[in-house]
Amino acid sequence: MEILISEEQLRARIIALGEQITEDYRGRPLTIVAVLVGSVVALADLIRQVTIPHRVALLQTSSYRGKTTLPTDLAVNSAFDPDVKGRDVLLLDDILDTGHTLKRVMDDMANRGALSVRTMVLLRKLGRQQVSLEPDYVGFEIPDRFVVGYGLDYNDDYRHLPYVAILPG
Ligand code: 5GP
Ligand code: MG
Ligand code: MG
Repeated sequence: MEILISEEQLRARIIALGEQITEDYRGRPLTIVAVLVGSVVALADLIRQVTIPHRVALLQTSSYRGKTTLPTDLAVNSAFDPDVKGRDVLLLDDILDTGHTLKRVMDDMANRGALSVRTMVLLRKLGRQQVSLEPDYVGFEIPDRFVVGYGLDYNDDYRHLPYVAILPG
């Protein structure tokens, strides 16, 4: 598989973003809310670089199901119930593609009474966005290719890879 972003590049970028978030949220009631499952690897690495006190919560949506790489209807799983009332929420997602997922969960956080809602994506796919939304923190901008690894899956495989790679085919 062709490696697009190496372990070393990922580590360096997460450290830099962690430092930036630490400064931006100093003295604020920060809750980092990660969108399952793809962002869990970035979440685990990021929160250890954010050195101010903060909370962590999870939520789940789905826009890609099974083997397809086409977006289907987006659902938010009510089994996850992040309490973000009065909190400064930083939403974390693995990749910004069309933007529908982040838009949907941003609205959800606002409806739950968040004090503020900002967004971080590990990856931003260029030339794909359908929703106008400017993420506050971006790990890497990538070309319009289907990528896996560092949390991102294809049919639930490849999440454990320590790098981001382009899926062959
Ligand atoms: P959006 O709602 O922005 O179109 O889609 C975001 C979601 O689609 C991501 O959280 C991810 O689950 C999935 N996705 C989009 N592009 C890719 C990709 O290149 N690789 C993988 N593994 N998932 C992707
Ligand atoms: Mg996702
Ligand atoms: Mg997926």
